Amino acid sequence: MARNRRQFIQLVLSGAAASWPALTSAQVRLKADPTNTTADPANPKADPTNPTADAANTALTATPLNDHLQLISGAGGNVLVVAGPDGLVMINGGRSDRSTELLKMVSGYAGGRRLTTIFNTDWCADHTGSNEAVGAIGAQIVAHEHTKQYLANDQFVEWQKRTYKAKPPAARPTKTFYTKASMTVGSERLDYGHLGQAHTDGDIFVFLPASNVLVAGDVLTVGTYPIADYTTGGWLGGMVTATKTLIDMSNADTRIIPGTGPVQTRADLQSQYDMLNTMRDRFAKMMRQGMGASDMLAAGATKDFDEKWGDPKLFVSVTYRGMWLHARELGGIV
Ligand SMILES: [Zn+2]
Repeated sequence: MARNRRQFIQLVLSGAAASWPALTSAQVRLKADPTNTTADPANPKADPTNPTADAANTALTATPLNDHLQLISGAGGNVLVVAGPDGLVMINGGRSDRSTELLKMVSGYAGGRRLTTIFNTDWCADHTGSNEAVGAIGAQIVAHEHTKQYLANDQFVEWQKRTYKAKPPAARPTKTFYTKASMTVGSERLDYGHLGQAHTDGDIFVFLPASNVLVAGDVLTVGTYPIADYTTGGWLGGMVTATKTLIDMSNADTRIIPGTGPVQTRADLQSQYDMLNTMRDRFAKMMRQGMGASDMLAAGATKDFDEKWGDPKLFVSVTYRGMWLHARELGGIV
């Protein structure tokens, strides 16, 4: 642990960080351009699906998970850096207003190697904010095909009444897939796959079996109810299934990295699964009784879970709309 921190500081002091090509003037301009307010990255609520994303001035912190994995938090969503002999891979890229700072920190682990790849676990602004800089240096951007589609088009997120502008072509995913794939980075195999219609319908996991680390993205939340963004294909039933998929991939020792927040365990996934599974059945029953979202809230639909998961208002209203889009799958409603 100490060795990695020391190496990082040495690299920054030696100027190695500054020479890393990701720190382009374009990236600096992106931060400084006052007209670049389309996705309002400075607003911590800019992410349509992560209402508790880090505030703009949260300090970045790096936590070594082993000698070649670094977890960086504070730049929006969590970022995992995988260092291999031939280059670095980032899993997620934080928010755009924190990208320069984030990439400077990542470059401290480069040691002359280049950044070859970045993953987007979904299209959210708190994970895709480094795509512009990373795309500019020719690194590949890996994501589910649906995420590429979302990033290539303006997205109107109905429940936020907000439009997210399409990313420029160079900042869109360059390597997409539909089901699953793998890549090798040094001694690590990265297995990645689609999680279906969950938090969005472009969510992916990235599993590193050799280190037993699982990046869950926004399918797993900490201290806040998960939001299934129905405007980009998410819904509660899919969240239940996706959470189960992640549980089945884990064991008691797996370190599970949520979209935002501290490292979790399989027990945390199980706890989310139990809550979501109960919610799905409870919501479906209430919908069959003709209740709307405000009726459900008034009836205390989430009451026994609020202590752990927080304010349920957004969760109930967004979940309700998503459930309607899948009413036939639930049966007995329409
Ligand atoms: Zn997300």
